[in-house]
Amino acid sequence: MRSLLIAASIGAALTGCGNTVVPDSRLIIGATLITMEDGAAPTAMLIKDGRISALGTEDELRARNPGAILTDLTGKTIIPGVVDSHVHVRELGMDAVKVNLVGVKTVDDIVARLREQRPDIAAGEWIIGQGWDEGAFADAGGPGGYPTTDAITIAFPDNPVALESLHGFGAMANAAALARAGIDASTPDPEGGTILRGEDGEATGVLLTLAQALLFDVVPDLDQDQIEAAIKAGLAQMAAAGVTSVHEAGMEAEDVAAFKALAERGELPIRVFGMLNGNDAELMAGWFESGPLDDADDWLDIGAIKVFYDGSLGSRTALMRDPYSDQPDTARPTARIALEDVERLGESAREHGFQMAVHAIGDAGNDFIMTSYERRLAPDTEGNVPDHRWRIEHAQVVRPDFAERAAKLGVIASMQPSHAMGDSDWAEDRVGRRRIQRAYSWKTFQDAGVPIIFNSDLPGEPWEPMQTLHFAVTRTKLDGSPEGGWYANEALSREDSLRAMTLSGAHAAFQDDMLGSLAVGKWADFVVLSDNPLTAANIPAIHVDAVYVAGEDITAPTTDTPG
Ligand SMILES: [Zn+2]
Repeated sequence: MRSLLIAASIGAALTGCGNTVVPDSRLIIGATLITMEDGAAPTAMLIKDGRISALGTEDELRARNPGAILTDLTGKTIIPGVVDSHVHVRELGMDAVKVNLVGVKTVDDIVARLREQRPDIAAGEWIIGQGWDEGAFADAGGPGGYPTTDAITIAFPDNPVALESLHGFGAMANAAALARAGIDASTPDPEGGTILRGEDGEATGVLLTLAQALLFDVVPDLDQDQIEAAIKAGLAQMAAAGVTSVHEAGMEAEDVAAFKALAERGELPIRVFGMLNGNDAELMAGWFESGPLDDADDWLDIGAIKVFYDGSLGSRTALMRDPYSDQPDTARPTARIALEDVERLGESAREHGFQMAVHAIGDAGNDFIMTSYERRLAPDTEGNVPDHRWRIEHAQVVRPDFAERAAKLGVIASMQPSHAMGDSDWAEDRVGRRRIQRAYSWKTFQDAGVPIIFNSDLPGEPWEPMQTLHFAVTRTKLDGSPEGGWYANEALSREDSLRAMTLSGAHAAFQDDMLGSLAVGKWADFVVLSDNPLTAANIPAIHVDAVYVAGEDITAPTTDTPG
């Protein structure tokens, strides 16, 4: 990207105290602007004080603002900053805290990774890692099939090392960690777990299934510095991919503290809308007393309550009205929170000005939650429904009347194009040919008038915005399969999908007055792309060239506007 000072304006840019001050406005020209607003298509955009101060033609805006920095983005396309409206950014950034072991094949590989990612570890400090694949290690030929962790003990004699596996079935520990956990030759296997042992009876350092608890019970909880580091790392990754605002789905008390501290120090690279963990009654009691957090500059707002109601389709823990097609004795596992408690939360949410955002996947789960919303959000005597913007997270499999009910009440369906593609290999096995017609039904919902937001629910599936857009418009995976798309009749158009990732996401957080589109008065949050996502043949190949938040290019190594 080129930034050109208009020569005539240099004089005006200098102030008397001797410091060079760049002009206080930036004029963006040359790019295709996708505004997400109706009306005439502007070709130039003026940014001042972090906001979009004018939209129009280049000639018009140049004439009115001769002192502006000119940024020529010819050939590029600009879209509003992406709002990823359901994420777990702390989890995404966990690599900053836990050593990433994905892809290691041997214990020597593990030692190399630990050394590489924790070069300056102080003696006595824990090293936590994550991601070694049980499948890759189970045939190493040692006790129980697994290798011993002796090499980790030799490499790190003074640091306890605890390593979580990729799928959660096993853990590795070195001698220092086994000692902290009190595991030795005399420790019996706990119920449902195995401590692998050598011929001498000593633990090899590999703990299977429930025996892992012996180790992880003594691993210290993350402290606030570590949580902040994880959040910052996660947000930085998202920022680089073109996301300028996230909705963090399920903040715990310690997350709130970390996000607040980062916001106060001005260290949030992008905007955060917090959804509190509604399954935590103690946390919610405090927030019902204080009310939502509404930041005047929109860096950190906290205003929604995320409730885990049912489970997932993959694990057959979502609440279904009729049994699972591939496991007929399973239909209604226990919900994670009683429906009465969801009702009570809804009552308090309405009273104290919070939004509800309940996780519901199965058709019965969605039906129950919709009924509870209908009770809380009943129209007044004149038939008016309050502007509640309550959401259902996932709304994956639904009853035939769901879309009509959601549309009538204005309940927002918060959906994940990546989930549909990730689940497409087995979802029909779970629910059968008939019910799959009412699953991941974006187009059906939209046609019925249900407000839809698209998000990634990262980490887990590919989450970058152009990947999400690809899933949304093609219903294919990144490799293009299955041919023609998986139930492609439920795909949305490019424009509708992009709106669900920008303006509608902002609306779902009561932020559409300031975010989500390119409009005069809104924050200058936008993404510069190498190609036009409304027309490009290969959407995931589109490159993010720059990302602006409040008028600052946050991807540039140093910015050329004053902070
Ligand atoms: Zn989630």
